[in-house]
Amino acid sequence: MTETIEEVIVIGAGAAGLAAADALTRHGIKASVLEKEAHIAEPWRQRHERLALNTHRDMSYLPGVPYPKGVPAFPPKAAVIAYLERYTEERGIAVEFNTEVERVTREDDRWAVHTSKGIRRARHIIIATGHDKVPWMPDWPGAAKYEGRLIHAAQFGSPKDYEGKSVLVAGAGNSGFDALNYLIGAKTGMIYLAARAGPSILPKRIGKIAVQRFSRITDALPIPIGNFMVALVQRLLFGDLRKLGFAPVKKGAISRLKEDHVAISADDGAIAAIKAGRIKVVASVAGFEPQHVVLADGAKVKADVVIAATGYRTGLDTMLDGLDVVDSKGKPKVSGAEPGGQPGLWFISMQPGIVGHFYAAGQEAKAIAARIAGSR
Ligand SMILES: Cc1cc2nc3c(=O)[nH]c(=O)nc-3n(C[C@H](O)[C@H](O)[C@H](O)COP(=O)(O)OP(=O)(O)OC[C@H]3O[C@@H](n4cnc5c(N)ncnc54)[C@H](O)[C@@H]3O)c2cc1C
Repeated sequence: MTETIEEVIVIGAGAAGLAAADALTRHGIKASVLEKEAHIAEPWRQRHERLALNTHRDMSYLPGVPYPKGVPAFPPKAAVIAYLERYTEERGIAVEFNTEVERVTREDDRWAVHTSKGIRRARHIIIATGHDKVPWMPDWPGAAKYEGRLIHAAQFGSPKDYEGKSVLVAGAGNSGFDALNYLIGAKTGMIYLAARAGPSILPKRIGKIAVQRFSRITDALPIPIGNFMVALVQRLLFGDLRKLGFAPVKKGAISRLKEDHVAISADDGAIAAIKAGRIKVVASVAGFEPQHVVLADGAKVKADVVIAATGYRTGLDTMLDGLDVVDSKGKPKVSGAEPGGQPGLWFISMQPGIVGHFYAAGQEAKAIAARIAGSR
């Protein structure tokens, strides 16, 4: 029996995988799209009900399919799910659902994709499984015996769940500020923000203008100028963040983004709440005692709930074990239109950027499709 070798297999039917499949179609290349879940947009369905994009709708659609009229400037979760469903349908992308890829291995000049339904083989693999697939939390000493509730930001739930409770948010990155932006709308007790260093942060809007709409301009600037611009806007709008208790950040926002993959946080009221004393900035979390969170400066805080806004991992270290294409945190060593360290292996939407994942996924999809088409 002759084995079938497909041209391209896309793993994951999120925004990035869908954009990749569509871009390939435009080059006349048929790709199989394998998705572990039973339907489109499961990661978005799992996120909390109040979540809306931090990126503007004009920077959050895939090539050629804008959001329909009436969708707010920062699309809410339901609009994102509806968008992805509509995109799949309009672009005629046939997704193979309930097909989980467990492992990818190399066989001579092709890839073997070990799925929950058997082995598939292809010349090219595009990995689109999401850069924020696995919630990650440090192994804090004493955490297991903490008597308060310790959750990851991925389990945020509803702001109402925090009413009457003191809350400590650990981490001043994107998801930390996202949690704070929602918490300040609820009748919580004291809110603490445990931060290692000052955030790279921009407001979601200035007046009625969505700041993220300028991200393409900032992205095109040389890195030192981008760093300067973000620092300037931050300083003009928020003042000196060190006066609010944040330790200084040693690197500019764009350098942190490009070199360390730390996204720029979006402020939607949290900084004003810090200034008003509703949120208190404290040192980073060092560990736990049964009744206290122990901070790096030795101080102790009592909190009913601790939200670890400590980021996500890709989980790719398991799927790609032995290929030497991801680092110890599961981050691909290369991304976008660069072959992923091995011929025919591509990663998409694995790095945060100032333009946001949706926009970047569309651009990366086009570039990868062009490279695959060029290699035929
Ligand atoms: C709280 C939060 C807020 C965010 N807000 C924004 C925002 O405002 N703007 C923005 O641009 N981005 C935002 N993001 C980033 C967001 O993840 C991306 O926008 C986008 O959803 C990523 O698309 P993706 O296709 O890369 O990954 P995902 O949407 O995660 O899709 C990956 C797909 O792959 C599937 N999959 C995973 N593993 C396997 C496997 N082994 N086999 C088969 N299928 C698999 C998954 O089920 C999923 O359907 C946010 C992320 C979070 C966590």
